[in-house]
Amino acid sequence: MVNRDLLSPCGLYCGVCGAYIATQKDSPALKAGIAQVFGCAPEEINCQGCRSSVRYKHCQSCAIRSCAEGRGYEGCHQCAEFPCGHIEALGAMFPNTVAHKVMLRAVEAWRKLGTEAWVAAEEARYRCPSCQQSLMRGAARCHRCGQAVILD
Ligand SMILES: [Zn+2]
Repeated sequence: MVNRDLLSPCGLYCGVCGAYIATQKDSPALKAGIAQVFGCAPEEINCQGCRSSVRYKHCQSCAIRSCAEGRGYEGCHQCAEFPCGHIEALGAMFPNTVAHKVMLRAVEAWRKLGTEAWVAAEEARYRCPSCQQSLMRGAARCHRCGQAVILD
């Protein structure tokens, strides 16, 4: 069953986000590692998903989510204006992250596949090709077997 709290309208599916995964695992070591990558304090790593009421600080207010909700859309895949200025602005704000690239890829895939198949495809995409360990978006290496990965 799809957990709708994890359906970020922008396509950055929360089920493969480090902030969400570290919160679910409630692991201090993982939170510390993610905090370093995200440039925040470990105690700020607390998120139940974009569409929940407990969100990572940078996702608490979001022009993309507000826009989609205002239009009554579940995601930007339903919008003829994608990729609009809100998407481009986020890309400009985080130029060195995979976020913008992922949004462009993922929203197109969401449009083609529909929500249930798209969620399954995103979860399958973020697995180690060697050992099938679930990884997170942006990982460069499998933390279980050491395989180099490109997860965007
Ligand atoms: Zn692996």
